[in-house]
Amino acid sequence: MTAPVSCLLVGTDADQGLVSDDANWLQWLSAHTDAGWRPGEWDGSLWLFTGDLDSDRTAAWRCRTPGCTTAARGFNGRCSSCRRARAAAGVCEEEFDRAPRRRPTRPVARGGCVVPNCGGELHCRGLCFRHERAWRKAGGGPLEEFIAQARPLIGTEPCLVAGCGRERVTRRGLCRFHGNRLQRRCNPASMSHEELAAWVADEKPRISAHQFSLAGLPELVRFELLYALQQRDEAPPPLDPLQVRILISRLDGASSLRHADPEAVCESGGVQYNSAIKGLFRDLRRHLERAWTQCTGTDPYAGNVWRVELLDLQSNGSRRWTGHPGDRRLWPDRASLAARGAQGLGPQHPALPARAAPSAAGLPRRLPNAGGLRPRRPGQPGRG
Ligand SMILES: [Zn+2]
Ligand SMILES: [Zn+2]
Ligand SMILES: [Zn+2]
Repeated sequence: MTAPVSCLLVGTDADQGLVSDDANWLQWLSAHTDAGWRPGEWDGSLWLFTGDLDSDRTAAWRCRTPGCTTAARGFNGRCSSCRRARAAAGVCEEEFDRAPRRRPTRPVARGGCVVPNCGGELHCRGLCFRHERAWRKAGGGPLEEFIAQARPLIGTEPCLVAGCGRERVTRRGLCRFHGNRLQRRCNPASMSHEELAAWVADEKPRISAHQFSLAGLPELVRFELLYALQQRDEAPPPLDPLQVRILISRLDGASSLRHADPEAVCESGGVQYNSAIKGLFRDLRRHLERAWTQCTGTDPYAGNVWRVELLDLQSNGSRRWTGHPGDRRLWPDRASLAARGAQGLGPQHPALPARAAPSAAGLPRRLPNAGGLRPRRPGQPGRG
């Protein structure tokens, strides 16, 4: 971590100011994100989060089907592949567990080729793509014999799709997964370089239920999300990769999370997900707004209106009563200000709004003297 960078604008040109603002904001975020966040789960080189299925800080669990390594959405639940297989088999949960019938799927988890010292990535039958192809070409004899006499290969460059990181196996620079995906859409050989580049830029890496990827997002959004997720992660609730994926899918080309349209992000999906996304989005925005005040050096107490979420007030867990609706005046009344001005004790307060009324429901629990105005509850001790 380094000291916050001031974001004072220079020059008079508004556009230039905006660019400079964004650049400073990006620099501040980059300096304040933690590269060592969630070791074993966060891969900063690929911008990929892979949830630890045994961690209670991550909302992802192992599929209950014996032998299945895919993540499930809930404790003692099944991955979507096993769920479909059980429904198709028409058997009860216990019977399916005794003899799982599911189509083998290509592993999402990465691994290495079993040929000693081979740098290839696991494709199938324990072999990398090139060794598996060579084994089939050789007639598909006993695998052990093939492995014993196979020569190790040097690993290839990663796939062109941002954040994919899988071994490049097609002539157009794609991994097997993205190569197949492109082939289903069109004939890759007929594509120009520009068309291929546009397709690649639109593609997302293949991820599983317990993963999310920030790759491919605009740089500022990527750092905003990473910073805010790290801040939110310092307290419960556990990090839910699915929620983050849904949020990302709803950002819809926003150039900054701070300016993303809340309605588009929070209201554009099914009711089932909207409230969870709303909570996540609100938390992330709050962390970003607080970071913004630090980056710009803004005093959150300056001015007549204080945004409570920016004041860094701590909640008081030992308080025995709950807040109740009502109004709170946060500044002196007009008469006392006028009197102070007349006595030369201080400047006249600027024009006050007609109604100085932040709602008590939105106030934190430790506002100065906030409890002093509360009516006493039955049984509640008085203040001496
Ligand atoms: Zn499964
Ligand atoms: Zn290999
Ligand atoms: Zn790929």
